[in-house]
Amino acid sequence: MDIETSEQGDLMSWAYSSRSLDRLNSCHPDLILLMTEALADPACPSDISILEGYRDEQKQNELKASGASQLSWPNSYHNRFPSMAVDAAPYVGGISWDWQHYYPLAAHIKAVWSRLQQAGKVGAGHRLEWGGDWTSFKDGPHWQLVAADG
Ligand SMILES: [Zn+2]
Repeated sequence: MDIETSEQGDLMSWAYSSRSLDRLNSCHPDLILLMTEALADPACPSDISILEGYRDEQKQNELKASGASQLSWPNSYHNRFPSMAVDAAPYVGGISWDWQHYYPLAAHIKAVWSRLQQAGKVGAGHRLEWGGDWTSFKDGPHWQLVAADG
């Protein structure tokens, strides 16, 4: 974390790759706005790669079969269209799977969500949930919009 911060400095600004944008654009507008604002914010602790937005039936069932997902089609939030889930990984010289990069990024994304929610820009009818907060099957890249009454 500290090494990355000093290398990136404060003049660096990040932008999503076209592949990330394609994936992000398959998501609910709240997730698009959230991830766009999160990366544009100078306080963002790392670059971000969008790993997945909408996920089709074949891919969902492949992930279930491999154990990478616990859910069969169409039960994942990734299976709705637009997708109610997005997978966002810290990009630190490459896609990171290290929790030390996920926690600061998650704190940042939650803060941006709160800010957008207070401004009335997101969160009508749903709240944001982070897979890293789950007690079993922790899913660091995973964010989903859950019905507010759910
Ligand atoms: Zn996910």
